[in-house]
Amino acid sequence: MSDDIQVKAPESGASSGPGGQSGGHQGGGRPAGAPRPAGGPGGRGKFFRRKKVCKFCTEKIDAIPYRDVRLLQGFVAERGKIVPRRLTGVCTTHQRRLTRAIKQARNIALLPFAARH
Ligand SMILES: [Zn+2]
Repeated sequence: MSDDIQVKAPESGASSGPGGQSGGHQGGGRPAGAPRPAGGPGGRGKFFRRKKVCKFCTEKIDAIPYRDVRLLQGFVAERGKIVPRRLTGVCTTHQRRLTRAIKQARNIALLPFAARH
C-alpha cells in the first residue's frame, strides 16, 4: 500500500520576511560556541523535514515521467489531490510539469482522480 503522506500545515507562519531566503535563520550576533544541552533528542519535535530545494531540480529531471507512478504518488495526497507546492518544495516550473504529468497519469488510469467513498 502507499505510505501516508504527512501533509501538515505549518503551525505558525514560518516565512521569513521579504527579501528572499538567503542566510536563513542563523542569528549573527551569537558566539559560535553556544552551549548546547546534551541529552535531548534534537530539541524540536518535528521530524518532518521540509525540503526547500526542488527534488527535480536537484536530480536534474527535466521532463517528469508520467509513467512513474511511485514518483507521482509522492506528490498526490490520499484523496488524489495534488499536494501544493509549498508543502513539497517543488519549484514553480516543475510543479507545473508535475501537474501535467499527474493529469496524464490519471488519463491513463495510473492514478485515481479522487478516492471514492
Ligand atoms: Zn524544479
